[in-house]
Amino acid sequence: MDKTGNNRLFQNAAQVLTLAGEAAPRRGLVMNDLGILKDASVLVRNGKIEWIGEDLAKVPGGIGDAEIVDCRSKVLMPGLVDSHTHLVWAGHRRDELELRLAGADYEAIFAAGGGILSSVRSTRGASDDALYEQSLRRIQRMRRCGTTTFEIKSGYGLDLETEQKQLRVARRLGKEGFRVKTTCLAAHAVPEESKSSQAARAAFIRDICERILPTINDEGLADFCDVFCDRGAFTISEAREVLTAASSLGLELRVHANEFGHTGGAVLAAEMGARSADHLLHLDAHEIELLRETGVVATMLPGTSLVLGKPFADGRALVDAGLAVAVASDCNPGSCAFENLSMVLAIACYGCKLSPAEAICAVTHNAAASLGISDEVGRIAQGLSADMLVLDTDDYRDLVYHAGSPLIEQVFVAGDPIS
Ligand SMILES: [Zn+2]
Repeated sequence: MDKTGNNRLFQNAAQVLTLAGEAAPRRGLVMNDLGILKDASVLVRNGKIEWIGEDLAKVPGGIGDAEIVDCRSKVLMPGLVDSHTHLVWAGHRRDELELRLAGADYEAIFAAGGGILSSVRSTRGASDDALYEQSLRRIQRMRRCGTTTFEIKSGYGLDLETEQKQLRVARRLGKEGFRVKTTCLAAHAVPEESKSSQAARAAFIRDICERILPTINDEGLADFCDVFCDRGAFTISEAREVLTAASSLGLELRVHANEFGHTGGAVLAAEMGARSADHLLHLDAHEIELLRETGVVATMLPGTSLVLGKPFADGRALVDAGLAVAVASDCNPGSCAFENLSMVLAIACYGCKLSPAEAICAVTHNAAASLGISDEVGRIAQGLSADMLVLDTDDYRDLVYHAGSPLIEQVFVAGDPIS
């Protein structure tokens, strides 16, 4: 029989991080249990994980034509799931780097028409193809760094046409071999043309609710709706209006919350039953309890804290309180253009005080659960897609110990190595 390419046996890995267990997100200290098998092998057939174990003689029907991937002295782990990115944008904001490093505040840059609105201008001006080409190079680099599933937000359009364009590009990446979930973030910032008056601002919110979201939903362009509920962005009542409209269309919800203060986003995420509340630099005991009770995944974006010189979210407190915690890159043109999620997971340890095992769970299974796809990716379990990483080390903790080193030797998507 011919080899089909994605029938593979990953043989004798020093550690297989299975994250075995249920599809629900892991809450609290359970995040430390990575379900590690030692000197174990994983058989993949037709891109799916078929068998995991130590004794190859026990494989039902034998290994057949599977191509051998020698994993001796290596770690085999699930591909990373980046549950919060803005990776489809045009242009760059390298010029803000020196300003910020010299002490200019992100909110001040934003208020002066820089920040998000400068990316809006470049993204509005880019053709579909130009936007696709720039985003493709970015997502390819992210995948080389170990990410095999990507959430992608719009939000550099702030008008129907450009929001559609961004989401079309994200869907196109999804058809070109990248595993993609899309999120409409039309409520990312108030566009220049709607800033003149309170009435203009209210009209923009109405436009999102009555035209942008329904059109994008009709065209099947979004899986989720997100809103930036924070100081300088949208108020709780504006954000509630947008999320209510999205929910009534059947879209699931995510919220940019509590990045700049106790600004209501986390409370709103709990109230609306969002899948995820993201950033969470400022959380009091009451807000933590609300997120815990409602099962909202608490997503930390520590790369952004590092770049902006802001405090880190208190990951230790979140895990100890029994929350399900995820970690994502927030890859975006301004506040954090980091593409390497395996480095961000290390920052989550040093900055947010997660253990290495908690951070691994946060960028695999819990991130997948926040996207509603934990029955497809995020673990090494029978029936899941064989999206897996081979690490050039025999101990997964080296991802944190040697943060930033090129430890990810090979990336497999549905059993196939990426080039
Ligand atoms: Zn974001």
